Amino acid sequence: MTEESQPTVFSLIIDRKIPADIVYENDAVIAFKDINPKAPVHLLVVPKNPAFRNVSELAAGDPTILAEVVRVAKELATKFCGGEYRLVFNEGESAGQTVFHVHAHVLGSGLDGALTEGSLGD
Ligand code: 5GP
Repeated sequence: MTEESQPTVFSLIIDRKIPADIVYENDAVIAFKDINPKAPVHLLVVPKNPAFRNVSELAAGDPTILAEVVRVAKELATKFCGGEYRLVFNEGESAGQTVFHVHAHVLGSGLDGALTEGSLGD
């Protein structure tokens, strides 16, 4: 196995090889709490298919799953932070991407307060 074909940390979570605080799962996507939260609510929504490294690849290759990521993000934001949230996809190292298995960050203030401008990417 080459280094590039090593499973990402998110594939290890999907396969239950490492633990995570999973808040949602269906056949296509999984969502769990970020291990290093940058906001009172910080969830990651991750397609189970590891083929797409970033949101541009996902949009081009499987837009239905991108729509499902957005749908699940809204459902979770409604549950965890009153339906108002920030949805972030980092693409590329210089933009802060560290895990090259496409994922959406769902950032929210919880049920009171507001996000600061620095939530993620700072
Ligand atoms: P990126 O920087 O690639 O946009 O986002 C990757 C995110 O994954 C980071 O916010 C980081 O805290 C989170 N992360 C990295 N490793 C783990 C892990 O093992 N478990 C969980 N729950 N989150 C992780």
